[in-house]
Amino acid sequence: MSSLLVISAHAGDFVWRASGAIALATARGERAKVLCLTYGERGESAKAWREGRTLDEIKQLRRTEAANAAEVLGAEIEFLDAGDYPLLENPELVDRIVHVYRDVNPSVVLTHPLADPYNQDHPAAARMALQARVLAQAIGYDAPGDPLGAPPVFFFEPHQPEQCDFKPNVLLDITPVFDTKRKAMECLPAQQHMWDYYTELAKRRGVQLKRNAGPNLGLPHTTMGEAYMRLYPQVTEELA
Ligand SMILES: [Zn+2]
Repeated sequence: MSSLLVISAHAGDFVWRASGAIALATARGERAKVLCLTYGERGESAKAWREGRTLDEIKQLRRTEAANAAEVLGAEIEFLDAGDYPLLENPELVDRIVHVYRDVNPSVVLTHPLADPYNQDHPAAARMALQARVLAQAIGYDAPGDPLGAPPVFFFEPHQPEQCDFKPNVLLDITPVFDTKRKAMECLPAQQHMWDYYTELAKRRGVQLKRNAGPNLGLPHTTMGEAYMRLYPQVTEELA
């Protein structure tokens, strides 16, 4: 059975950038798992800090919000609480991610792009996600489960795509699940300014999706999209 693994630096990232893909997977009856390396407690919780909450309160708040969003999407969620701002790369954390790969055995992996001059936690998460994928493929790596195959990796769209060398080469039609994405976004009131921003982005990506699909598919003007960028070549027996 197909399964989706989403590796997210902070608690909110997967919601803005990949929740359409997650909702599509679970609507098909597939397993979807979100792995949040941190809660985004220091770097992406400004509203809660301004309200005078403590670090532990903020972690709990973000955990609850992200868990609610995952529930809306029908996805599993796990938090590694590795600490953000900075999220530091280390072998123990990579090893924990390897264990998740071996458990989920994903057919598709989603994570951050490798560049983000505004947020160093995002590329750190991506580097660890990719390193763990390679280790999970090795039969000699000491972790439970079978060696991983070669699941394709898609980078999800960063907040400032041009500065992150993000050039979409996959446009995913999320029209059937957009209402679910919006509900998932609304589980994160700490970042309420993002709800409309990512709704507008989905509309723009939908326009581009229609343009690239051509008129014959008859996609509606309400088409909504999410943009992705493949890391590895697509393998196919027929060019299409
Ligand atoms: Zn983030």
